[in-house]
Amino acid sequence: MDESVRIELIDQRLTAAAEHWPPTTLSHFAGQPFKALIASMLSAQTRDENTLAAMHNLMALAQTPAAILRLSDEQIRAAIRPVMYYENKTRFVRDISQQVLANGDIVPRTIAELMAYKGVGWKVAVLTLAVGYGIFDDITVDVHVARISTRLGLVDPAIKQPPRINDALKQVLPRRMWAHWNERMVQFGRTVCKPTYPRCSECPVDDLCPKVGVQSGRKRV
Ligand code: SF4
Repeated sequence: MDESVRIELIDQRLTAAAEHWPPTTLSHFAGQPFKALIASMLSAQTRDENTLAAMHNLMALAQTPAAILRLSDEQIRAAIRPVMYYENKTRFVRDISQQVLANGDIVPRTIAELMAYKGVGWKVAVLTLAVGYGIFDDITVDVHVARISTRLGLVDPAIKQPPRINDALKQVLPRRMWAHWNERMVQFGRTVCKPTYPRCSECPVDDLCPKVGVQSGRKRV
């Protein structure tokens, strides 16, 4: 099968299946750059439900940079306690709020500017631009995107760094797919193409997937 046809079919089937999958945490903050930035930073190394709980707690206290800066460290720490490394992230919440306020209450619109903020790496920056501003010049590469894109044979398994996986994906995916690739992979990775036991027997793209790196002796359900 032609590779572009295979990719098109994969996308069509996953898009159809996604109607039955829960939305991603970050989708709750679409079009809200400051909340998208804070949520993206909090989400690092953290389960989705804990990120959402922390955002719910924090936003119940304050929703703008100026309002967050009026909170005590203890208030911020208590609010975001559900996330991993909440002590460090308490400092990042405050630092990001100060930087955004100093920038005229505007979240930057470039990866380089965002990465100058404490607690903001490449993935958080790309995710913020995508969720907050709808800027999809890059594909956010998290663990789901990296794992599944490799299993699907879209990315060489030797490529490990997220920015390089992004480059590789952009070579093969039509641009219109860049906007939803991260969300689709997160949904798919949580429900079907799970890290340890991918549910290949109930996967909508089973016949299109070379299952790169999926051990044949490992249980597949
Ligand atoms: S067939 Fe298996 S490895 Fe391939 S995408 Fe589906 S669940 Fe993942």
